[in-house]
Formats: sequence, C-alpha cells, structure tokens
Amino acid sequence: MTNSNPESQNAPTLSNFLRDQIAEDVRIKKYGDAQVQTRFPPEPNGYLHIGHAKAICIDFGLADEFGGKTNLRFDDTNPEKEEQEYVDSIMADVRWLGFQWDRLCYASDYFGQLYEWAVQLIKAGKAYVDDLTADEIRQHRGTLTEPGKDSPYRNRSVEENLDLFTRMKAGEFPDGTRVLRAKIDMASPNLNMRDPVMYRILHASHQRTGDQWCIYPMYDYAHGQSDSLECVTHSMCTLEFADHQPLYRWYIEQLGIFPSQQFEFDRLNITYTVLSKRRLIQFVQEKRVNGWDDPRMPTLSGYRRRGFTPEAIRTFVSASGVSRTNGSTDIEMLEHFQRDDLNHRASRAMAVLHPLKLIIDNYPEGQTELVEVANNPEDPTAGTRQVPFSREVYIEQDDFREVPPPKYYRLSPGKEVRLRNAYFVTAKSVQKSADGSLEVHCTYDPASRGGNSPDGRKVKSTMHWVSAAHAISAEIRIYEKLFTKPDPNDFAEGGSVLDNLNPNSLEILLGAKLEPSLANAKLEDRFQFERVGYFCLDPDSTPARLVFNRTLPLKDTWAKIEKKSGA
Ligand code: ATP
Ligand code: MG
Repeated sequence: MTNSNPESQNAPTLSNFLRDQIAEDVRIKKYGDAQVQTRFPPEPNGYLHIGHAKAICIDFGLADEFGGKTNLRFDDTNPEKEEQEYVDSIMADVRWLGFQWDRLCYASDYFGQLYEWAVQLIKAGKAYVDDLTADEIRQHRGTLTEPGKDSPYRNRSVEENLDLFTRMKAGEFPDGTRVLRAKIDMASPNLNMRDPVMYRILHASHQRTGDQWCIYPMYDYAHGQSDSLECVTHSMCTLEFADHQPLYRWYIEQLGIFPSQQFEFDRLNITYTVLSKRRLIQFVQEKRVNGWDDPRMPTLSGYRRRGFTPEAIRTFVSASGVSRTNGSTDIEMLEHFQRDDLNHRASRAMAVLHPLKLIIDNYPEGQTELVEVANNPEDPTAGTRQVPFSREVYIEQDDFREVPPPKYYRLSPGKEVRLRNAYFVTAKSVQKSADGSLEVHCTYDPASRGGNSPDGRKVKSTMHWVSAAHAISAEIRIYEKLFTKPDPNDFAEGGSVLDNLNPNSLEILLGAKLEPSLANAKLEDRFQFERVGYFCLDPDSTPARLVFNRTLPLKDTWAKIEKKSGA
C-alpha cells in the first residue's frame, strides 16, 4: 500500500563548505587520482540517533556525489561499553536510511598494526610508559591557563619503555597501573597534545578479539590511523573533535602514513530532543522508555517504529544544513517534512479513537451497503476501496456536543452534517444505552448517498465514521514529545534532563474502532486516519490484537480556535 514519494526522494542538495572543500581537493588533485574516500565511524556503544543520520548523510552523500566510496567503520576500542547488539542495529539503521557501505571495517582489525606503530614510536623516542595513576596524570596535565608538568617517568630509556610495553601486552600488570603516552609537549596550549595516553591496560574480553588483548588503544590513538589505513581522503566529524585534529595529524606525520585530513561540521541538535548516547542509554536502562526503539526515542529505530520514513529524515537533515557553529533546529521542521512525505504516500482510512455510537433511526435494520472511498486523494493511482455502512456507526466523541459552543459546526441536536462519502445525517436526541454509555439518535437523508444532496443543501462539517457492526477494535498509542522544554538541558542546579521528561508522553487508547480493511495492515504500511493523524502498525501487533502508533497528528484547527478563545 505504501507508495514512494518522488519529491522527497530527491532531497535538495544545498551548498555547503564540505562539498566546496572536496570539490577543490578534487580539482587540485590533492590525492592524485585517488577517489574520494569517506567513512562513517560509530562507536558500537548504543543505537544510532538522528544526529548520526546527519553524519551518515554527509559521509555517504558527499562521497556519492563525487563518485567516491564510504566505509562503515566501527570504532570499537572500548570493550567494556560495546556490544554485538549495537553493531547489528547500526548496520540495520544505516541500510534503512538508504545507504550501503563499501567496506565494513573495525578499528579492532587494526589492533596489531596499531601496536606495531606504538613500538615504532617508542623506538623513535616519541612514546613512553608512565606509572602515574590516572589521577596523577590529570593533576600533571595543567589547565587552559597553566602548562602541565612532566611525569617523572617521561625520560625512561627506549629499552626500558620497550620492555615495559611488551610486558603490559603480555598481561604482567594489573589494570590501571601503567599507560603508554605519546611524548609531545606538556606545555602545549592544546591540552590534547600534552602527552596524551595511547594505550591503557584493561583485562576485558573484546566482542571481536576475545581475550587476545589486555591493552587497548585510546580512541584518539586509533582514530586517525584507522582513517589513514583506509586511505580516507575526507574524514568528516563533528566540531568537538576540532581540538583533536592536531593530535591525529601528529601521529600520521610521525609514522609517515597516508595523510587523511579531518573536517568538522556542526552537530545536529533538535528542540525537545536529547541526542547523546550516554543519556539515551540511561533512559533505556532506567526504563524511562520501553527500549531503544521506543517510538518516543530520537533513535533511528525509534523513528522507524513510529512510522517516520527514511526519505523524510534525509530531507530534514539536508534542509537543516551544515555549518561551522552549533545551533538548534526546531522539531516542528522535522514534523513538517514527515507530514509532507506521508501526505503523499499514506493510504487514507477511517478510524474512531474515542467512539460514540450514532444510531440512524430511519435506516433499515440489518442492511449493509458498501460505499466507495478514494485510497489517497493526493494520488489517483492509489485507487479506491469499499467501506461498509450500516444503521449504527461510531463517530468521535469530539464530533458531537449536546450543547454546542459558538462556532461549533459539528454534530449537535438539530444540526445536519455529512458522514464522509456516505450520507447527510441530522441529530435528534441523546439517550443512555443499557450499559450506561451515551448514544446519539439521528435520521439520514437517503437522497444524499455518496455525500451530496441533490437539492444542493450545504452542510458545514464532514465527519469520519466506522460501521459498528463491521468495526475492528484496536489499541492506539499516542505519542507526545519526550521532553517538556525546548532545551531539555535547561534544568535547575543539581537537577538533570530527567526533570524535564514529559510524564504524558505516551497515552494508550484501548477502545478504538477501525474500518475493517485495516485488519490487513502490514508493518511497512503508512496510513492517514482521516481527520486524526498519521499512523502505522506497531510490531507488538498480532492478528487478535492490533496495535497502531500515531506517527504525527494532523494539524488540528479546532484545537487552535479553542485555545485562542481560552476554552
Ligand atoms: P553521542 O555524543 O551521541 O554519544 P558520539 O559522537 O559519541 O555520539 P559516535 O559513535 O562517536 O557517537 O558518532 C559517530 C559519528 O557521528 C561521529 O563522526 C560523530 O561526529 C557523528 N555524530 C554524533 N552525534 C552527532 C550529531 N548530533 N550530529 C551530527 N553528527 C553526529
Ligand atoms: Mg563519540
């Protein structure tokens, strides 16, 4: 049922400085005839979020534009926080977003080479084993205004360093007792250059190399050389790594290896949204949400489950732009692109979320007729379907008021409205049914079949409905923003982002009534429940118990009027 939307598949290619840089490097043949090579380098310590989607679109998108290639490289240097589950989810999410990597790489593939290079640096007098504790190293580092102090172990001989480093690798020393450091400059104005740690001792099993290693390279030692080993020409990452660039270059120059060049761009930040794996892990572990793919999460798997489409996410990322300063993008912009995409591709259906029974007193008892309904007025090729109509139908509770307020054009006693594609009905009375719930009695005009009256009579409202005898029941999950503040990090001293969690971000409706065709919905289908919003089937669904997620509401003009008048 899902149609692709050609308009949103071609995200606008806005000009940006990264593209200009690559174009210039290609023009001057900076790397000779070598192709443009990029990489996307996630650490497998969590699921990808929509911020990563920006990096992915940049890494893959720009390489593509220049006929180059992109590797997916897992920066798996921290065995304590990394898991195969994350590796698998990251690969699935990159593919879902619409990209395919050239080579699949792991920093752990380079552990042997990185070790050899460390030995090479020791031999060149450019690295030393330090016995200071982590705390002492921190104290020696100095501050932005004060230079650091040399470690008393800084001038060990090459022989002693080689011996100690070999024994570190052999597992002779407990965790945390020694590190290998680069010998650069303890007075450098850049703190990253003050003899950064290259290796630490960690007797931990790695998800890929098992117990082969008990020393692990630091991210900053592994990252630049991994780029170099893959002949990455343009290594693009977010701004917080700008201060690390001189260090990456230092290693590459000391080792005389392929000169990958790093370029930094701004992180994607979105209002009402937290994009930090460390935080997202916390929400999952503390069960503030129902897992990484909870539809309220800003993870790609969360958006997927909620019914967002890769096309809309790519369009949004592209439109939010690339810059050299961090800013923030309104969440409404993401929602706008998603609504626009779904408006084109979503099949229309009728669903009543808060049912109120409407009984048509002059409609023949036991009769059913089929009315023809367009599947998508935006897309004539989507065809039509037959929807059953009968004497008792459900309408939304909101669509009826016994005492209508001013400007209320929907159903109320004495008022005539249109049941979409079916008939005009006029409300007569309200009665309590046997089970205590309210029922509205009305009459219909048999001449108005299809939704128009031959005498040209106008009605002010058209409402969706579901035949009671044919309705299927479903659970509907309504999602609101996960945070109550545009900046979730705006909390009082001593507080945390958790203080800004929206306690009403999930509402579960158990009694919704849907038109029968929705019994055949598939996971990848997208629907517009007419007048209500965009919905998709949730994986929790079973044939006996359908569950739909609300992707986004339609814009509700009535809610706005009501708000304005202070009601
Ligand atoms: P987080 O800060 O959420 O924990 P991270 O930067 O530690 O993320 P990595 O796995 O290291 O996560 O990220 C892989 C790539 O994605 C890096 O190149 C990083 O620059 C980029 N990236 C991460 N977050 C964002 C973001 N919000 N916007 C754009 N790019 C991002
Ligand atoms: Mg990181």
